[in-house]
Amino acid sequence: MSEITLWKPEPDLILHQALGKLAEELGELTQIVARCLIQGYTGSDPKTQQHNYVRLREEMADVLAAIDWLSELRHDLETYDSPRHLKKLKGFRQWQKMLEDDARAAP
Ligand SMILES: [Mg+2]
Repeated sequence: MSEITLWKPEPDLILHQALGKLAEELGELTQIVARCLIQGYTGSDPKTQQHNYVRLREEMADVLAAIDWLSELRHDLETYDSPRHLKKLKGFRQWQKMLEDDARAAP
């Protein structure tokens, strides 16, 4: 029995394109997050002189827009204020506090 299965693209054209845009915008967000990490949040692009945090804000907005569009198309994907979203956010805030407490305790 073959482990290869027949995969086909998402047949709904609009859903297909919305998923594609989300993937594209996530890639752009990943690029600027990496740039902030290696060049600094307040660093700037040597070609455009644009600050990294400005570009980060733009790409975060693009990703949120892509998520909103996808959520409009498929209401079963709505995530804002979902139990998972709130649980994840609570966890991030707990982690931040742990990091801050650890930094204060460090000699
Ligand atoms: Mg973008």
